[in-house]
Amino acid sequence: MSDTRVAGSCLCGAIRFRIALPTLFCGHCHCTICQRSHGAAFVTWFAVPRSQFHLETGETGLVRFRSSDHGTRSFCGRCGSSLFCESSRHPDQVDVVLANMEAPIDRPPEAHLYFDDRAAWVKADDGLPRLGGGTGPEPIARDVA
Ligand SMILES: [Zn+2]
Ligand SMILES: [Zn+2]
Repeated sequence: MSDTRVAGSCLCGAIRFRIALPTLFCGHCHCTICQRSHGAAFVTWFAVPRSQFHLETGETGLVRFRSSDHGTRSFCGRCGSSLFCESSRHPDQVDVVLANMEAPIDRPPEAHLYFDDRAAWVKADDGLPRLGGGTGPEPIARDVA
């Protein structure tokens, strides 16, 4: 069988990690915190159980930033790559930026989250569910195409 582990790293390589499949979820996050912290229109994250996440190198170079009352984001202190998000709402899982992985994971993006907070220039016509609300994955009352 194929290896169920996938490696990832920051841009400069100081921080290396690996995750074990299967993942829990994958989706595009349009929240304003993701927009600012990544300098991007939206960020594609996936989640894994904490027990399937392993930081291999770079612990001392990983900078943690408390980005909300429940969330802590971490990035490489050398190159600035945004890497992980941990939330007290889901203490047993780690959110990982898909773009930092070195090989495919086990699922494609499944939904747009916080879609009602999206950047004005974003058009999403990929057919995926567009969710939002106060916590991100709630149905949006009005379809905001
Ligand atoms: Zn780096
Ligand atoms: Zn977000």
